[in-house]
Amino acid sequence: MAFKSGFVTIIGKPNVGKSTLLNALVGQKLSIVTHKASTTRHRILGVVTDESRQIVFSDTPGVIESAYELHQAMMDFVWSSLEDSDILLYMITSESSIDEALLKRMRDSSLPIILIINKVDLIGADDLKEKMASLEETGYFKEIIALSALHGFNTDKVLETLSVHLPEGEPYFPPDQVSDRAERFFVSEIIREQIFLGYAKEIPYSCEVIVEDFKDKGHIIDIRVFIMVEREGQKGILVGKGGKDIKRLGIKSRKEIEAFLEKHVFLDMRVKVAENWRKKDLFLRRFGYKN
Ligand code: GDP
Ligand code: MG
Repeated sequence: MAFKSGFVTIIGKPNVGKSTLLNALVGQKLSIVTHKASTTRHRILGVVTDESRQIVFSDTPGVIESAYELHQAMMDFVWSSLEDSDILLYMITSESSIDEALLKRMRDSSLPIILIINKVDLIGADDLKEKMASLEETGYFKEIIALSALHGFNTDKVLETLSVHLPEGEPYFPPDQVSDRAERFFVSEIIREQIFLGYAKEIPYSCEVIVEDFKDKGHIIDIRVFIMVEREGQKGILVGKGGKDIKRLGIKSRKEIEAFLEKHVFLDMRVKVAENWRKKDLFLRRFGYKN
């Protein structure tokens, strides 16, 4: 059988259990599981590889219902990133229902949608049956899987089902290197968030953050980062007069990274202009697999 590989995006409201499921599937503590709905602010990736398939997961920040324009911009960014997915994994819980507006956006993508009903430990068997039947009737979902991410009930079914719908293709990541890349990834996400917070709308869209180097020297971590933009003009805005804006971005980012890694950080941040970057290449670069 041919090798299969692809990108799977997990979509669901805060607290439905996306991170818990991702951790169960990837088998490593890659993302942050928390009781606070707003803590998972970053896109988080996990990779599952075995002899027949590789599945690259991305855990979206959830659908933040907010009046703030910033969040709107971030959500648009999240949606635009769906283009590079192969499968959408829409997650609700046994206690919640489908968000029609959200589902509509997913259906607009024409990607296969697999529905997960999590937290089945909180519902009776009959109620679950009824819920599943009415969801099946809609015809919107390739499959519906009822599971408990927390208790590991039926989580195996997720990988099996995804494998069925995954396209044939070569692996994107070397199979043995996942966990040691997590910190680099978080660093790029933290900086990306600081760019969202610090610059006007069009700038964050055109930026990609690449962690070129990450060296833990014991007392300090040396991090070298490139921010890739598409045009000279964007570079100018990012850097600011006399470099003041990039300096501020660097300081804020470093503080956030230090708080996250709980270590002193030396952050070398540069801006590069590069046209026509492909998203999947960017995923690899973010993890440091490609230069
Ligand atoms: P996310 O915001 O969608 O990433 O949700 P999290 O993975 O952070 O989970 C939110 C909360 O739901 C945490 O307290 C989890 O322990 C809990 N949770 C996740 N899966 C289950 C489940 O299957 N059953 C129950 N009862 N709780 C769960
Ligand atoms: Mg989460």
